[in-house]
Amino acid sequence: MSLPPLTPPAACEVLVIGAGPAGSAAARQLARAGVDVLLVDQQPPGRDKVCGDGLIPDAHQALARLGLLEAVMAKAERVAHVGCIGPRGGRVDVPGSLAVLPRRELDRLLLDAALDAGAHFLQARFEAPLEADDDQQPARVGGAVLKLEDGSLHELRAGLVLLATGAVPKALIAAGMCERHTPSGVALRGYVRAPALVGKIKAMEVVWSRAVRPGYGWIFPAPDGCFNIGVGVTDSHRAVGGKGAKKELNLRAIFDAFVAHYEPAARLMREGELLGELKGAPLRCTLAGARWSRPGLMVIGEAAGSTYSFTGEGIGKAMETGMQAAEAWLAHRDDEAAARARYETGLRALQPRYDLYERANRVNAYPWLADLLIWRAGKSERLLRRMSGVLNETSNPGNLVSWRGLTRIIWE
Ligand SMILES: Cc1cc2nc3c(=O)[nH]c(=O)nc-3n(C[C@H](O)[C@H](O)[C@H](O)COP(=O)(O)OP(=O)(O)OC[C@H]3O[C@@H](n4cnc5c(N)ncnc54)[C@H](O)[C@@H]3O)c2cc1C
Repeated sequence: MSLPPLTPPAACEVLVIGAGPAGSAAARQLARAGVDVLLVDQQPPGRDKVCGDGLIPDAHQALARLGLLEAVMAKAERVAHVGCIGPRGGRVDVPGSLAVLPRRELDRLLLDAALDAGAHFLQARFEAPLEADDDQQPARVGGAVLKLEDGSLHELRAGLVLLATGAVPKALIAAGMCERHTPSGVALRGYVRAPALVGKIKAMEVVWSRAVRPGYGWIFPAPDGCFNIGVGVTDSHRAVGGKGAKKELNLRAIFDAFVAHYEPAARLMREGELLGELKGAPLRCTLAGARWSRPGLMVIGEAAGSTYSFTGEGIGKAMETGMQAAEAWLAHRDDEAAARARYETGLRALQPRYDLYERANRVNAYPWLADLLIWRAGKSERLLRRMSGVLNETSNPGNLVSWRGLTRIIWE
């Protein structure tokens, strides 16, 4: 369903740029509290986003806080386990609250929920920040220059701008917030319809192998007899440019190698129907690569690097950081410096978790670590519980792959 076109207003209280999970979550929470919010995206409602579409426990929690978990689960494919498969074919199924819903549907549902709460939507592209009409030093962002659908430029004043523009750094650069232009990772996915394989691939399967190093391949069961299949290289900037670097990263070749290595993937591609093309996209991880705020502006979601390295999961944390920014604004509407300070404190509290995921990235670089973990988890209930704790965010992933952690794993 398309939305009636909106005459661009001259001003609003909060301008949210980007209607992905981060932007829509922030807009919904602000609008629910009575804030005048304008949500802007360069693409029309119902746009697609290249993603694995996996909703892990942190996404379930964020959706519950937004009051949307039931609505999402009514459309999503429910999944009970993440199936971890090592290079030698060993497998362990880690339980958790999981689901898969194509982003075209998830993001539309989130956007509609923001509009239901009272936010407005405008299709337009953020071009540059506008300086506020005051003498504050350093200059405060007081709105944005937007490019409208007819190509004209429109100046819009706002008390706060939230930048939720995802992993592509163009808008971050324009806003003077980008500290790293290269992505932290890149990934490629396709949709395959294969009704005959429904019930045969039941878990969200994550497969480590030398073919996909440093990264992993996946097959996630989606609704309507479809599967999301892809590969991600989580350290692509180093993989391409750093020590021991590959000259060129060819994601399509890595995808083909994954399919050749993993028989269920080969079967899916052989027996199923590929819907559309395989598509790739960058990731920004570890809360790094961008400034989190400047006067009048906060960066939320993947633009702030809110995606986990190691797993490349980011939908849940995008919503969480969006809600954190909304809460910070609601607590300090008359003192934007205090709102920013509160938002940054919230992100700093999340940082240690991201650092641990960065450490856990070793599994992607050294897939034999996955073999070791899977082999031990098959023998140790306790280790399986710890792996489930990582998925549910009740225990730390980094501890599993530190040398001390590995020694414990071998003996426990
Ligand atoms: C192949 C792949 C697989 C992935 N798999 C998973 C997974 O299974 N589970 C998971 O949790 N995460 C996954 N991720 C990560 C996940 O996609 C991101 O973490 C998530 O989309 C971040 O949400 P966001 O709202 O911050 O940004 P986005 O979802 O990227 O939304 C940003 C929005 O901003 C808009 N925008 C950008 N620039 C402008 C501009 N200048 N003006 C106006 N609008 C603009 C865009 O059109 C877009 O709608 C995957 C990523 C990739 C690439």
